[in-house]
Amino acid sequence: MPKREFLLPIERCPICGAKGTFRVKGRIDYIPYFGEMMQTSASCTSCKFRHADVMCLGERPPLRYEFQVTSEEDLKVRVVKSSTGTIKLPELGVTVEPGPASQGYVSNVEGVLGRVKEAIELAIEGIDAVRRRRGKARIKKLDEVCAGKRRARLILMDPFGHSAIVNERARKRKLTKRELASLGRTSRTRAA
Ligand SMILES: [Zn+2]
Repeated sequence: MPKREFLLPIERCPICGAKGTFRVKGRIDYIPYFGEMMQTSASCTSCKFRHADVMCLGERPPLRYEFQVTSEEDLKVRVVKSSTGTIKLPELGVTVEPGPASQGYVSNVEGVLGRVKEAIELAIEGIDAVRRRRGKARIKKLDEVCAGKRRARLILMDPFGHSAIVNERARKRKLTKRELASLGRTSRTRAA
């Protein structure tokens, strides 16, 4: 399948108002046995605004993916994390919900865990010692998962169905009404 790309020049930057500096780039790729995925990035050379996102295309209901990370090999499994996706690592007590500036990305399990680690590190900056210690303990567990020494479930929930864990061992189902209601009410990293 040919690679499809597009470029949208936009006259004025919606953020800073500069002329001819804002553009939106996009591309659509096909993931074998899965379907199409679209990556977009918007940027302004004047105010340096940047935003990237990704979404799985096609008719997709609100979805929940669950993948058991058991080995180093599992770290290579592809993950499409849209700006609307929530990540959960229940064994580690970590939830990363999308905030207003949330971006999307295509990565693998290892890349997702790395970003979760960064989010925890940010969340525990400048908080009290007890919660910081708890956050550090979670980071240690995350490192063990990345080293293939600890098992953990990676859950990815997206009310728009734009996110996915692309592996035959990933369990996929529709989000329940209760899960849907719980998503998007807050936007923060519950890790500290
Ligand atoms: Zn701008």
